Amino acid sequence: MNPIGVHGSVWTGDWTADEVGRAAHETAAAGYDLLEVPVSDPASVDATMTRRMLDDAGLSATCSLGLRPGADISSTDQDEAAAGERLLIDALHVAVDLGSNYLGGVLFSAMTKYDRPATPAGRANAVAALARLAAKAADDGVILGLEVVNRYESNLVNTGRQAVALIEEIGADNVVVHLDSYHMNIEEGDLARPVVECAELLGYVHVGESHRGYLGSGTVDFPRFFRALVDIGYTGPITFESFSSTVISPTLSNTLGVWRNLWHDGADLARHAHGFIVGGMTAARRT
Ligand code: MN
Repeated sequence: MNPIGVHGSVWTGDWTADEVGRAAHETAAAGYDLLEVPVSDPASVDATMTRRMLDDAGLSATCSLGLRPGADISSTDQDEAAAGERLLIDALHVAVDLGSNYLGGVLFSAMTKYDRPATPAGRANAVAALARLAAKAADDGVILGLEVVNRYESNLVNTGRQAVALIEEIGADNVVVHLDSYHMNIEEGDLARPVVECAELLGYVHVGESHRGYLGSGTVDFPRFFRALVDIGYTGPITFESFSSTVISPTLSNTLGVWRNLWHDGADLARHAHGFIVGGMTAARRT
């Protein structure tokens, strides 16, 4: 059975002890196994406090981030690329201190709308930096996940096939593909083939609806997606992701283009999502 997780942004945009304690409590109460901790600003995450809160709630942790303009390993500006690599290393340290064996997200470029395609030189910078990061992560038993995102959030990896190609170039065995149904619904031909193409390289899954609101209220073909995960024997985490400016910071809202809110009650949303994922995977296993 897959560990079922929820992204921290469903609960809070402010990583204080009070908020993390509440998030951990509500995550466990909604039936989840893990909380995904956002580490885009590593200095904002108190790993010791977070680990204690998660331990108290009986939860495990994963970590995710997106790089940003100015700290982008796919840049051809060496200072910008170096700043991106430092950010990834800082995030890795937080993941290790949290006891997380997973660091994923938009690790390969800035999470932004680029105004031009990726360049071969920029791609080579990203591959080299990720190979160095993977070696460090391997020493700490951490797996890196390259999250496939839509064209408005990266110019480097928009399909599962592109992620597989990048991982082959990186050449490390602790780098996996991270698929997200919200992004797949925009970029992929369907929701089954990318799962099959990634196969054993698939290591992490985000479940999000087409509008990033309540699961089942949009156009994502979840029965097909869940069946494909079952068909390849995927046993990794399945984590629910949704964003509302009711919860997250204006900065993150603006990065993600959250111009209207599809929910205000994160607890109700998370309980519903847990039931939807568990129910969908159960149905897929029995079909
Ligand atoms: Mn995602």
